[in-house]
Amino acid sequence: ATILVTGARGFVGAQVASQYLQAGYKVVGTVRSSPKGDYLKELFKGYGDKFSYLIVDDIAKPGAFDVAVKGVDAIAHTAAPFHFNSTNPDDLWVPARQGTVELLESAAKAPNVKRVVITSSTVTIVPPKSTPGYIYSEKDWNVESEKEVLTKGGAEAGPLHIYFASKTRAERAAWEFMEANKGKISFDLITLQPPWIFGPSIHEVSDVKNLNTSLAYVRNIALNPASVGKDKEELTSSLGAFADVRDVANAHVLATRSTAASNDRITIAPDAFSPQSIYDALNAGGIKAPTGFPGEEIQNPLVFDVSKSKRVLGIQYIDSKQSWIDTAQSLLDRFGPV
Ligand code: NDP
Repeated sequence: ATILVTGARGFVGAQVASQYLQAGYKVVGTVRSSPKGDYLKELFKGYGDKFSYLIVDDIAKPGAFDVAVKGVDAIAHTAAPFHFNSTNPDDLWVPARQGTVELLESAAKAPNVKRVVITSSTVTIVPPKSTPGYIYSEKDWNVESEKEVLTKGGAEAGPLHIYFASKTRAERAAWEFMEANKGKISFDLITLQPPWIFGPSIHEVSDVKNLNTSLAYVRNIALNPASVGKDKEELTSSLGAFADVRDVANAHVLATRSTAASNDRITIAPDAFSPQSIYDALNAGGIKAPTGFPGEEIQNPLVFDVSKSKRVLGIQYIDSKQSWIDTAQSLLDRFGPV
């Protein structure tokens, strides 16, 4: 079978493409320029002609994916802007939402497409300030971020709410599309909600200054302790939840194959983290990190019920401690110390 992977040159997209290839699928990746595609062609050269790429320079353009969907059996849609650099909602909202709708419109014209898997996010579930003690799951929606942006405007609401709302609007539009086209299309939809994604990287990073948002964020916490502070409260406060990119990529493959899942949201968010939990894992794994307050629990951890991911996809999550060691090692190997 052949899988279309949008945003294949991204941190997540490259790992998603890699795991489909490892699982024996053919992969067509979409990228925005041929040098980006050529990097992937080289990265995946061991798979011969099982990997190819197509250029889709603007995912929000009408008919953007009409050519790309031809002959593919399933689609993994990872492309979307992920940054906190804009206070103009349209910079993120247009590609996120319209890019998703265009993809589904194109897929609706291709009867060969049987399943679409969208890389959504836990930001569609939980707003930037979560409720301590509440266990979040697929049932929940973050309605706050969009409201904030629409009532206060982008500048006042800020980049966090803008990004959170971009993903919420995109995923909601996908479900609305499915509802509106019931009985008329050949595919079903699965949306995956990962939180912060870390783990080893294989995508092209021309300069560490251009590192993708999540790795840039975690590189500072894990490898630049000066940025974090030393008091107990700072070190043990929850920074949110995280998943390993290899688990997230695997979830896409499992979701593509699953006969148990259909038209489902599935949250992929196995663990919470604090600076201290990272330091403990790194020290135990022989990677130099501050000692801090060893073994201190994460304060007010952000917790998701991931039983559905285990039950429906059968996913077995990588041990979090191992994930931190592999994340830090990959960052050190590729970019050196901070
Ligand atoms: P990257 O920035 O590494 O990748 C984003 C990808 O989307 C790139 O391939 C990028 O292309 C492409 N893209 C963005 N905007 C456009 C556009 N307007 N037209 C065409 N392509 C576009 O980020 P990640 O890999 O981290 O993110 C991938 C997906 O995972 C996103 O949907 C993100 O929301 C989601 N996600 C990520 C999390 C994380 O912590 N990393 C957490 C939860 C969800 P180009 O490189 O050419 O700009």
